[in-house]
Amino acid sequence: MILNHITENLTNNSLYYYRGRVALFALLRALEVGPGDHVALQAFTCIAVPEAIIAVGALPLYIDIVKGGYNMDAKDLSDKLTPHTRAIVVQHTYGIPADMDEIMLVAAAHGIPIIEDCCHTLATTYNGRLVGSFGIGSFYSFEWGKPLVAGIGGCLHVNDPQLLEKARLNHSKYSVPGLLAQAKIKLQYSAFELLYRPIWYWPIRSIFRFTEEIGLVENSYNPVGRGSVAKDFNLRMVPSVQRRMLRKLQTMEIQARHNRWVTDQYCNKLLPYNIPPPVIPEGSETVFARYPILVKKKTDILSKARHAFVELAAWYATPVHPLTDNDFALVHYKEGSCPNAEICCQHVLTLPVHSKVDQHDINRTVRFISRVCQ
Ligand SMILES: *Cc1c(COP(=O)(O)O)cnc(C)c1O
Repeated sequence: MILNHITENLTNNSLYYYRGRVALFALLRALEVGPGDHVALQAFTCIAVPEAIIAVGALPLYIDIVKGGYNMDAKDLSDKLTPHTRAIVVQHTYGIPADMDEIMLVAAAHGIPIIEDCCHTLATTYNGRLVGSFGIGSFYSFEWGKPLVAGIGGCLHVNDPQLLEKARLNHSKYSVPGLLAQAKIKLQYSAFELLYRPIWYWPIRSIFRFTEEIGLVENSYNPVGRGSVAKDFNLRMVPSVQRRMLRKLQTMEIQARHNRWVTDQYCNKLLPYNIPPPVIPEGSETVFARYPILVKKKTDILSKARHAFVELAAWYATPVHPLTDNDFALVHYKEGSCPNAEICCQHVLTLPVHSKVDQHDINRTVRFISRVCQ
């Protein structure tokens, strides 16, 4: 039954774009958010989110995450909202739902619409309802590292009929990516399907970075705030990605079961080593995109993981990943403005839960973590 709801989120009242960030951009445009407006979002996110906000001409307003958690703090949201705030982007980080009850109260008190960033989750429920159905709209991403990998693509789901009509009208003017971009995405996807296993994570990551640099594959990050809006923002989803996404959608229930099988083991097997599971809001069934743990020596553990061929990801390594220091100004983030997010970046590591993780990988990962975290 959950599959029906997921399918509904991704096919009913939905529009397909080149990437997740383009879907967010399209929704902000339909909401007529522009210059002089603020859009709230959490720090501890990736650059794609402020990129879309800046692309419509608005200013990102960074909200801290809850202490010891990964999602937006409703209290900080309430403190920081300005009279110019026109939308609140609520991210369900790693698939863990944000505290929607509290956040919706704050949003309703100010009459500001909520947009859900569902890039990390398709199947998580909160109070018995699927995430993506709480806000005025939600957006999804299908690139590698997300719960459903189909190449590069994004989906926008709109819960308001008038807004949907407006977005649909704009969407009809969007163009299909060129044949070269389509070929690159196909190559990228085939390589991913064929080669990627947890044990090959680090070598493949190095190769991917290299092919990105020489322009063989599409970059994950665009240069932001350097005067031009990336060309991506007027593109639709590649048709072959759309077909693959719809086909793989049918396997989401099996994948959700697999994710639970993996995360239950991480949870039970890491507890004896004083690594507690992440805090989940009451009344939520969480399907993780990755399983986060907090460690003392993050950098040290990452370099050991690389040598031991254990898949561990660092994201988010900075409050607006992957920007650092001087580059924060490009996305209007002020260092020190979100202390919980900044501390979290220094300690978080995430373990894989995707369909290629088998029993052997789980055992290796747990053994590795227990060894390096002693
Ligand atoms: C990946 C991601 C995005 C952007 O998705 P793209 O398809 O790369 O544009 C936005 N928000 C979050 C939380 C993401 O993980």
